[in-house]
Amino acid sequence: MNLDYDVIIIGSGPAGLAAAIYATRANLKTLIIEAEAPGGKLLKTYEIENYPGISKIAGVDLAMQMMEHSSLFGAKTEYGAVNNIEDHKDYKKVVLANKELTCKAVIVATGTKERMLDLPHANELIGKGISYCAVCDGAFYKNKEVVVIGGGNSALEEAIYLTKLVDKVTIIIRRDQFRADDLVVDHVKENPKIEIITKSVPHNIVTNDGKVAGLEIKNVDTDEISLVKCEGIFPYIGADPATSFLKDFNILDENGYIIVNENMETAVEGIYAAGDVTKKQLRQVVTATNDGAIAANSVSRYLNK
Ligand code: NAP
Repeated sequence: MNLDYDVIIIGSGPAGLAAAIYATRANLKTLIIEAEAPGGKLLKTYEIENYPGISKIAGVDLAMQMMEHSSLFGAKTEYGAVNNIEDHKDYKKVVLANKELTCKAVIVATGTKERMLDLPHANELIGKGISYCAVCDGAFYKNKEVVVIGGGNSALEEAIYLTKLVDKVTIIIRRDQFRADDLVVDHVKENPKIEIITKSVPHNIVTNDGKVAGLEIKNVDTDEISLVKCEGIFPYIGADPATSFLKDFNILDENGYIIVNENMETAVEGIYAAGDVTKKQLRQVVTATNDGAIAANSVSRYLNK
């Protein structure tokens, strides 16, 4: 049977793009499918300071460089959301809304999707004070006051970025401990533009003229409600794996992450996964590119068997 590709890589974040470089250098006919814009979470990250060999780079610049690099050896890219993968044993069919593509192996590198704030009107207020991307929208809040919700690396790094633009950032965390790396926590604590409110959760969004004017927060110990005045709210409350199209395969853990072995193989022959979408301890650009390289190498060995 004449197949469209040797390998189809779903997702073009660091894992997918690294996989594309290694797959094409192994002479595999390679397609990357991307549902949004190439670069994954890099596009929403202001700066990367922990990618070896590059001491500091804008997320968008690293994304562009990886994208250009990935196409150097012949990888093709198509845009669209994958709705399903059909496993026909010796080949796979990748189903998009308007087409179906066949290949010998698939690498899933779809990453994670940010969790949305679960408060009344939160979705209607996106673009009117609620934003999930400080790099994209931070400039709208120049000289204003904003709230960042969450205590992970994303929340703290983007809070630090926002202090370059806004007058004040209030970080709300639900415990009295951060989840982010110690170095980032130190930078946050040293930043005079940042106030930290612990043991509190978002309770109600206050609006004025259809725009965010404040956030009521509830103390988790006392149930006391207080108001933080702000014109912008940036929730960074974690992310969930983008694996809904894989639910019929028995390869997901209880949280929807893909279970892989050290070769990035899933329990289904010919289906591999790489990057943040996999069940793993450390989600970083460097671990994603590592996974992508291993996945592509495993595909190459599988196809040469
Ligand atoms: P995360 O590490 O899961 O942190 C989510 C934060 O949001 C936690 O502080 C969590 O509180 C809080 N939270 C969750 N649900 C909440 C709710 N309903 N209300 C209020 N707060 C809530 O998520 P992330 O920061 O997006 O990071 C995801 C992964 O990417 C992590 O592995 C992270 O290390 C990695 N990452 C790395 C870098 C880097 O190394 N430079 C940058 C960005 C992301 P609790 O702590 O109480 O659960």
